[in-house]
Amino acid sequence: MKIAILPGDGIGHEIIAEAVKVLRALELPFETEFADVGGTAYANHGHPLPEATLALAKAADAVLFGAVGDYKYDKLERHLRPEQAILGLRKNLALFANLRPAICHPQLTHASSLKPELVSGLDILIIRELTGDIYFGQPRGRRTAVDGHFPGADEAFDTMRYSRPEIERIAHVAFQAARKRGRKVTSVDKANVLETFQFWRDVVTDVHAQYPDVELDHMYVDNAAMQLVKAPKKLDVVVTGNMFGDILSDEAAMLTGSIGMLPSASLDASNKGLYEPSHGSAPDIAGKGIANPLATILSAAMMLRYSLQQADAADRIESAVTSVLESGLRTVDIASAGTRTVGTREMGDAVVAAIRATTTTITKTTS
Ligand code: NAD
Repeated sequence: MKIAILPGDGIGHEIIAEAVKVLRALELPFETEFADVGGTAYANHGHPLPEATLALAKAADAVLFGAVGDYKYDKLERHLRPEQAILGLRKNLALFANLRPAICHPQLTHASSLKPELVSGLDILIIRELTGDIYFGQPRGRRTAVDGHFPGADEAFDTMRYSRPEIERIAHVAFQAARKRGRKVTSVDKANVLETFQFWRDVVTDVHAQYPDVELDHMYVDNAAMQLVKAPKKLDVVVTGNMFGDILSDEAAMLTGSIGMLPSASLDASNKGLYEPSHGSAPDIAGKGIANPLATILSAAMMLRYSLQQADAADRIESAVTSVLESGLRTVDIASAGTRTVGTREMGDAVVAAIRATTTTITKTTS
């Protein structure tokens, strides 16, 4: 197994260092290779996604990504900005499925904007189609209107479109993920108004015929936005298009309290993936040693589960994170009365110690 490690910018280096430490504590046979990406790559090689970085990402079995971006690069031409690296990786690696778990650890319910009883134990997986929809549909642009309410006026337009294979492949990802969880998929659309999403609903229903063991329901996106804040625990796997997924996954993220806790995966058709925390490079706290590394550590767990077929190792990381939270350790973003605030490195060390403790227990039990 070869893992490409792309720390990126800002807190990227600090959080990736902890995730790598945790991966090494598992003592699995994998190789790691580091490369520059984002602003760091621009500064060192003149491009946010150098050829060598892309080649490494393509050759590896999985990519672990920190974060990119720094305000000092905001005046660069768009194609040279750090954030272009992530778009380039998604495109070149054909990463069409974005998986974002929204998990509210019972120890962190106070950090949510919802009442504790609504979010305690929350565990939703939002699956967003990542390479289609109105974000990529052609034609798009600006022109002079020839019809509509104001003929002759300037107007702008985008095109919403999905093909059957694009919907089929994301639906398969959702049904297969549901089989590893609560066997329930909610497909979110706007079939009552949009032709594209009536088609989406029809195709998801067709694919469902291959998964009789998984329950499927359909929900309009406006209702889904409501249900996420009214009764989020009723949802298990949510699958939706690129634009609705963009919005709903951020809404779901906020239910869990801190963005510093949220991992994500972006997968291709053969489950090769890029794994990254849901947050950015946090330039405001970079270099201070206070960033929460848990989203990146949990992204490494997703990488083990989805791309490297090491579900047991993924479970061990996730259990270690839970036990560290239970022990009362918190980085500053999730701290509250009665907990002990630690820095990035100390949090990573605590997860490593919890993993080693389970290794010792397993060895003792088997010997
Ligand atoms: P951000 O996610 O970097 O930060 C938002 C807030 O959350 C900040 O106050 C930050 O300190 C805090 N925060 C983020 N991660 C944290 C962590 N692990 N622990 C503790 N606190 C954390 O978003 P932003 O400030 O809007 O963007 C900063 C830069 O990141 C920009 O250049 C933006 O383009 C980039 N960005 C990159 C990605 C990516 O690499 N995928 C995603 C989003 C934003």
